[in-house]
Amino acid sequence: MQSRPAAERREDLVALYREASGCVRCPLHEGRTHVVFGNGNADAALMFVGEAPGHHEDLQGLPFVGRAGQLLDELLGEIGLSRKDVFVANVLKCRPPGNRDPQPDEIDTCKPYLNRQIELIEPKVICTLGNFATKLLTRSNRGITAVHGRPQVHELGGRAVRVYPLYHPAAALRSTGTLGQLREDFTRLAALLDEPPPMPIGAVAPMAAVAAAVPEPPQMGLFG
Ligand code: URA
Repeated sequence: MQSRPAAERREDLVALYREASGCVRCPLHEGRTHVVFGNGNADAALMFVGEAPGHHEDLQGLPFVGRAGQLLDELLGEIGLSRKDVFVANVLKCRPPGNRDPQPDEIDTCKPYLNRQIELIEPKVICTLGNFATKLLTRSNRGITAVHGRPQVHELGGRAVRVYPLYHPAAALRSTGTLGQLREDFTRLAALLDEPPPMPIGAVAPMAAVAAAVPEPPQMGLFG
């Protein structure tokens, strides 16, 4: 799909932010202080998707501003990036009471906002942080322990996008082993961002590329 100019996409993202700010589609709106829409670079190549706002995020209306957010900032810094380079959002835009897990009906109700964010930002790579974002965007039940650090290609927001599942920074704050793994997975992000965009899903590779990719069967030599 042809990309629209960044300024136009940003305008639509602001309109979506305004719409989400008054959202009453699910009961979570009753307990929120702020809708946490997400923030960062509206034309970012790299997008992070976490689970749901916590206490600090709900108070400030911004994603990942608590301890998990500080760790995210630190890991970004280690690979030469900052929050200004990326867009950060969550599966749920409102805080679940007591930080409980998102419920399936809440995820379903909130999903259109995330899909539209992906469509408008057009990221090259989406890092899903933890199980909820990973299972939602990979449309699979495989958990983060099985899939972290291995890029997958999925059609999201109308385009083929590389999805790179990572442990959630909050999990890394609880376990040094998980932190080490998250840090190691982060080091592969720069190379992933440098890769050419993935082929549209279901697209047929150009014949030259197919010929280059598929070794000639041994029998071919028999026919001159
Ligand atoms: N954890 C999340 O998943 N998202 C936030 O915004 C903060 C903590």
